[in-house]
Amino acid sequence: MADIINLLPDNIANQIAAGEVIQRPSSAVKELLENAIDAGATEIQLIIKDAGKELVQVIDNGGGMSETDARMCFERHATSKIQSIEDLFQIRTMGFRGEALASIAAVAQVEMKTRKTGTELGTYIEIDNSAVKIQEPCQTAEGTSIAMKNLFFNVPARRNFLKSNAAEMRHIVDEFIRIALAYPQLQFVLTSNNQQLFHFEKGSLKQRIIAILGPHYNARLVTVKETTDYMDVYGFVGKPETAKKTRGDQFFFVNNRFIKSPYLHHAVMNAFKDLIPVDSFPLYVLFIDLDPAHVDINVHPTKQEIKFDDEKVMYAFVQSAVKHALAQFNVTPTLDFDL
Ligand code: ADP
Ligand code: MG
Repeated sequence: MADIINLLPDNIANQIAAGEVIQRPSSAVKELLENAIDAGATEIQLIIKDAGKELVQVIDNGGGMSETDARMCFERHATSKIQSIEDLFQIRTMGFRGEALASIAAVAQVEMKTRKTGTELGTYIEIDNSAVKIQEPCQTAEGTSIAMKNLFFNVPARRNFLKSNAAEMRHIVDEFIRIALAYPQLQFVLTSNNQQLFHFEKGSLKQRIIAILGPHYNARLVTVKETTDYMDVYGFVGKPETAKKTRGDQFFFVNNRFIKSPYLHHAVMNAFKDLIPVDSFPLYVLFIDLDPAHVDINVHPTKQEIKFDDEKVMYAFVQSAVKHALAQFNVTPTLDFDL
């Protein structure tokens, strides 16, 4: 009998893998913004057209890429962020899987301009269906501009599955806001269909929260700050009077990565018990920093679900940090310092 197994060509393998990483325009927004942050950018611009179906572009002033790296970055499992299995347990970067750009290049058309800090000439590269169409030297600013066009042009089933522009835009704004909250020291601009939606100047966490979530939180934020050998918790919770009937102003970041954790949410809600009406939700923007060895962020390709090695300790600590903050504010309501 003839053998029947063959290896899939790269573009098909990448397209299959892309299904996990790039589900909609906002997935690309997240990956491209994270790359800009990992590249050390201080100013990051996100440009959207047609809710990201036509264009998702990120322009950063980070370290840029060499001519060779500008081609390499689109290969699957190509990353500058880890080298060995040990590195996997000490991750300080947002990325490390080396999958995002390969996935994007498999399901969209990509145009990138990049110039490495300290070099004269940049590189322009155009990719279609995982194949390089053009690669040539170009004049461009230091940093990287990467444009993803016509997402899923070659996977009609996925393109049809995209939601209305309003719904896709909401996902995009969610991702943008999560990242802007995690990095108040960086400048972010979001433009959609040539209209500027957000322009966040570099500032403190408190300024960023107010810029994003509204001026009614001014003077209504309570500082949370507690440290042990195992972990730090810091950030802000809204004063009980600001609790809302709707959700949306609740954010956890672990080592600066936005995560979803019903378990830790419960810990905060417990700390607010008796202070707010049932079925209402307080604002919180809480950062948990701990040794990366204690968290497994590799549970899911989008890294929004993570595993802690000791969940119970985290729960108790988050709850007591918030309780402590709320008690202090009750005693001395003016104790309101900036982070
Ligand atoms: P990962 O971020 O997991 O390493 P990506 O596919 O997102 O994988 O990116 C691959 C590599 O391309 C990165 O490791 C980085 O070296 C380089 N890269 C991607 N985006 C940028 C950028 N905006 N500026 C500089 N280098 C970048
Ligand atoms: Mg990345």
